[in-house]
Order: sequence, then C-alpha cells, then structure tokens
Amino acid sequence: MTTSVPCEGCGTSLSLPSADHPALCEDCTRKAGLPPFAPSQRPALPCARCGHAEIVRVRMRERTVVTGQQANEERVAPVAVTFDRAVTYKGFFSKEQVPMPVAETDKPFGLLDAHVCRACGFVEWYAQEPEAIPIGAVYGTALVVAKPKS
Ligand SMILES: [Zn+2]
Ligand SMILES: [Zn+2]
Repeated sequence: MTTSVPCEGCGTSLSLPSADHPALCEDCTRKAGLPPFAPSQRPALPCARCGHAEIVRVRMRERTVVTGQQANEERVAPVAVTFDRAVTYKGFFSKEQVPMPVAETDKPFGLLDAHVCRACGFVEWYAQEPEAIPIGAVYGTALVVAKPKS
C-alpha cells in the first residue's frame, strides 16, 4: 500500500511506501545534501539516559565545498564514518587499476544517523550498513573484537 503526499521541497506529488518515509523527491533529497533514505536502525525505545519518549532522528550532514565549481561554493553532504579508496590507472595506456591511499568522497561508508532525545539532548549514533564498512589504515578504521566475558 502506498500513500500520496506532496514533496516538502518542491510540491511534486509523491507516492510513498509508508507514512514515516521522508516526503522529499529524489532531486530535492540530493539538493538538500541528505543521504538516500534508509529505515532507522534504532528501535523505537525511550531515551537511554532519561527515559523520555520523544526522539528526533537526524540524517547527519556536514558543510562541504564543491570541487570544479565556483570558488567557495558551500553545500551540505551526508556524514559518513569513512570513504572508499580512490583508484588510478597503472600507466597512461594501461586499463589496470591500482588503489591509492586517497579517499573517494563520492563513495561513503556508514552514513550516520543521530537520534537526539527531545528532553535531555542525549545523542545516540547509528551507522548504516555497518557490515560494509571497510577495515584498514587507509580507511582510518580498525576492527576491535570484544573478548568473551570470563
Ligand atoms: Zn521535490
Ligand atoms: Zn533523554
């Protein structure tokens, strides 16, 4: 079952899968610098600190500058925990790609959702698709495996 609502950005009629889906078309989502919609990973529980029932889910964004555009043109982009590695070609005439230690900002991993308690302001973070986050020094990540309790 779908529900029909106007896009909050441009007014275009949208057909949404559910009422908790953001009422923003794909174009307005991109213009707003929001991450693509994903269901919340946080269960609908009260605040872990104070027990308040109202929690604000925030798709985290950060300020950025668009490269190849006018100088100092500021935009917003989704916040991620890390990025893929950029690749380059082995040689000028080679089709063989080699990874570089440079971040590929178009390929983020672990887009961040913050869940803010409406009463005390306590914030819980959740990264989307945590199983896909790459591990390694060039990603700024390390895998820590908890020891079993003795
Ligand atoms: Zn729109
Ligand atoms: Zn709270």
